[in-house]
Amino acid sequence: MLEEHELAPTYEIWFTGCSLRCRFCTVPDAVTKPRLGSWLPPEELVEHILEPRVPPFRAISLVGGDPAVNRPYVDALLPLLRRRLPDSLLVLNTNLFTDPSLAARDADRFDWVIGDVHFWRPGCARQVAGAAAYPELAVAAAEAIVAAGGRLMLRILVLPGHLRCCAEPTISWASSLAMRADGRMRVHILTNYAPAGAARTDPVLGRALRPEERALAHGMLPDACPQPSRQALSGTRPRPVDAHDPPAPIEIGPDGTLLLPFVTGSLLPLAVEFDPSLRDRLRYLEG
Ligand code: SF4
Repeated sequence: MLEEHELAPTYEIWFTGCSLRCRFCTVPDAVTKPRLGSWLPPEELVEHILEPRVPPFRAISLVGGDPAVNRPYVDALLPLLRRRLPDSLLVLNTNLFTDPSLAARDADRFDWVIGDVHFWRPGCARQVAGAAAYPELAVAAAEAIVAAGGRLMLRILVLPGHLRCCAEPTISWASSLAMRADGRMRVHILTNYAPAGAARTDPVLGRALRPEERALAHGMLPDACPQPSRQALSGTRPRPVDAHDPPAPIEIGPDGTLLLPFVTGSLLPLAVEFDPSLRDRLRYLEG
């Protein structure tokens, strides 16, 4: 329910395995134990998506981990999704640690690529995610997606302690790319970081951003840079009365902060209680 309005509500398919090892990862088990879970053939997965009690959605998003490390499965799944769900947007959510030629191919076969860029400096990428080569490859992959004519939603997660070294140059580069992308790219600055996993006890990453840091990060984005829609979009089907959402965790942080990592339709009214700015998303429960 909390994806960008262009894509919400989204049916998310979560893959295990990832090419990075971020200390702040919210799904470390799925990342480090890629054989967790059970094998679901692509045909069976599509049948699950088509079940009548599944709440309506605008987009189907392949999320991870990183789905790009499961390319053979993705290759088999995509044609099935196109054929059985022709009205849904197909979205790849990736960390962009990908060969640029493969990224360009993804630009061609997905309606949107969501690219998460976490770091700018190789030293920071090595320290936090174990991959010094990440920034250079992520930049090349994002540029390849735009050059190939794809639509790119670039998310920049602003990390505490990395505002000047990573967030600022990433935002500068991303906004410049977006302004040359003929409306096919949006830049989404995420300042809602909450420490998870090994980051909870990290002296740098173990805290949320301060209000002044959030304002500083948002102020780094030029006004002319394309951003996600600010308003909920209409056009999804009404939610069936017996709609069934999967279970979603509610976490209470050490400082009493309430964390809702995955907001389903059932959890949305609760999220709105705590954050009234989400109120217009209730439209997605009504269709
Ligand atoms: S890229 Fe995302 S899924 Fe992969 S380790 Fe980092 S935070 Fe976790």
